[in-house]
Amino acid sequence: MKTTPMLGVLAATALEFSAVTPQIQPHARAAELQKWAVHDESRPMPPVVDPGPAGPPAPVPADAIVLFDGRDLSGWTNAKGGAAAWQVRSGYMEAVKGSGAIKTTRVFGDCQLHVEWASPAPGVGSGQDRGNSGVFLMNMYEVQVLDSYKSKTYADGMAAAIYGQFPPLVNASRGPGEWQTYDIVFHAPRFDGRGALATPARMTVFHNGILVHDNETLTGPTAHKARPPYKPHADRLPISLQDHAHPVRFRNIWIRELQQ
Ligand code: MG
Repeated sequence: MKTTPMLGVLAATALEFSAVTPQIQPHARAAELQKWAVHDESRPMPPVVDPGPAGPPAPVPADAIVLFDGRDLSGWTNAKGGAAAWQVRSGYMEAVKGSGAIKTTRVFGDCQLHVEWASPAPGVGSGQDRGNSGVFLMNMYEVQVLDSYKSKTYADGMAAAIYGQFPPLVNASRGPGEWQTYDIVFHAPRFDGRGALATPARMTVFHNGILVHDNETLTGPTAHKARPPYKPHADRLPISLQDHAHPVRFRNIWIRELQQ
């Protein structure tokens, strides 16, 4: 059958997507993503939206699993499974430079995750070197933690970005030292019996109560200067928090498991 050049272009595009996300209708934002190199400095920054002032810690739903209640790190270890070496102070924990990431002792797949964090005050440094940490679903899919209040970096690495892939829809950041919230709905990727990707990971994220990712489809694990493809992994893995050498604080972390 003869195809017009236009149809040829469409077929080629469809083929590209089928290689990345088989059996998945390409998401409009995934198409948009193809235009931008990872950490592309020319990618537009999202508009700023003032979320209003910080409040007290959010209430914990009755069916939530509390991962950190401000008192101790009993539910956490370092990357190797040893004692988590972050500082616990009055009601919060703080990343300790050089101590490495910490991860939950429990493992999770599909979930609703609530995290509260604050970047150091006064703010020091610039770009990625300013209040950097991260919330990693399954230890590999990062929602960036960064001081992005009146501070610029590449769009896919700012606060609430799905790191290296998707900037948030808006910049809903509060200033240094102010408590901020992430509410994340995460659907783990699925792999078939042969280890091939069946369905990719998806995330919906609210930053300080404002929608910043609307059922976004991830291209694979998040990474620095790369967009690696999916690799098969377990159905459930730990949540982890990044040590990026900055004393970022966390409090009131809880999770609700979704039916899997
Ligand atoms: Mg980070």
